Amino acid sequence: MKILNIALQKDGKLTASSYELIEAAKSLGGEIFTLVLAENASDIAQDLASRVGGKVIAVSNPALKFVNDDIYCKVIKEIVGKYSPDLILGSASFYGKSLFGRLASLLGSPMASDVTNLEADGDSIIATRPSYGGSVIAKIGTNDSKPFCVTVRMKIYAESKDGNGEVIEETVDASLFDSKMTVKEMKVESAGALNLTEADIIVSAGRGMKAEENLPLVKELADSLGGALGASRAIVDAGWIPYSHQVGQTGKTVNPKLYIAVGISGAIQHLVGMQTSKNIVAINKDKDAPIFNIANYGIVGDALEIVPALTKKFKDSL
Ligand SMILES: Cc1cc2nc3c(=O)[nH]c(=O)nc-3n(C[C@H](O)[C@H](O)[C@H](O)COP(=O)(O)OP(=O)(O)OC[C@H]3O[C@@H](n4cnc5c(N)ncnc54)[C@H](O)[C@@H]3O)c2cc1C
Repeated sequence: MKILNIALQKDGKLTASSYELIEAAKSLGGEIFTLVLAENASDIAQDLASRVGGKVIAVSNPALKFVNDDIYCKVIKEIVGKYSPDLILGSASFYGKSLFGRLASLLGSPMASDVTNLEADGDSIIATRPSYGGSVIAKIGTNDSKPFCVTVRMKIYAESKDGNGEVIEETVDASLFDSKMTVKEMKVESAGALNLTEADIIVSAGRGMKAEENLPLVKELADSLGGALGASRAIVDAGWIPYSHQVGQTGKTVNPKLYIAVGISGAIQHLVGMQTSKNIVAINKDKDAPIFNIANYGIVGDALEIVPALTKKFKDSL
């Protein structure tokens, strides 16, 4: 089996999930290639190869500085034509999801999105995908149509660390860099904010925090743990916090090592975005709140008292 991973970079630095893709590919075995597209891909590819091993293909061009679905898909298609992978893996990030839908369509390939497990069944690849809020686990296989395009949920696989790979420099036809679409710049919405989908620790606030003025208490708790600040839709809709923090069906899907839900009831639309977190702690004054059904640890009480007390405890223990 041949597997092609698409490693994405931002500002010339690979996203953490790029390293996880290699581990996902290794779980299947076979020949693993990783493609790096960037303005100057060589150094990034070298760094990746020395960290995770395998064969790393580098394609450099100023038009590849920012992720541009149109140009990226055309270049990936060219590389796919040359290397004929059976499976193409990307991360189920904002950019990965956008890119892979277009890529699968361009290649006429089957596609599975936000996959939590991959297994080989003879020559076939079976992708597992939680559906309907996790109440159905879909196993998606393909017939003979290849390559199978799959985006993998972040933080499911560990970052690979088996170094000593090799870099292959590739050039593609210059016409592929022509596009009606130009990405001129990228702006970080809130400077210094941790990327929710890549964070190992998330502390999320819900309507139980009572008022926007109380949100700094949750932010302080997140900061004391080196985590990111999440939110339920209720407080996003109330205008307490920007949409970029929303976790759930219409927000982000997250999978951290620790998720602390503060004053969040546990509506299904929230749960689908965070229920695969490794450890879930819920703080809620209602002992019957549904969030406790999926929490590993629960604290019943007033969040306005418990959150500052926890922050103090964590800060004191540093
Ligand atoms: C199509 C659709 C998509 C949706 N997408 C999303 C989504 O992506 N993400 C999302 O989050 N929601 C989503 N929702 C909304 C979802 O259904 C819930 O309305 C929302 O998650 C509720 O947010 P909440 O838990 O903060 O508020 P509530 O449901 O009001 O819960 C507040 C909780 O705080 C507790 N509480 C109150 N005071 C305190 C206190 N002092 N201390 C401790 N606890 C306290 C209460 O007991 C309660 O459990 C969606 C809904 C629809 C219909």
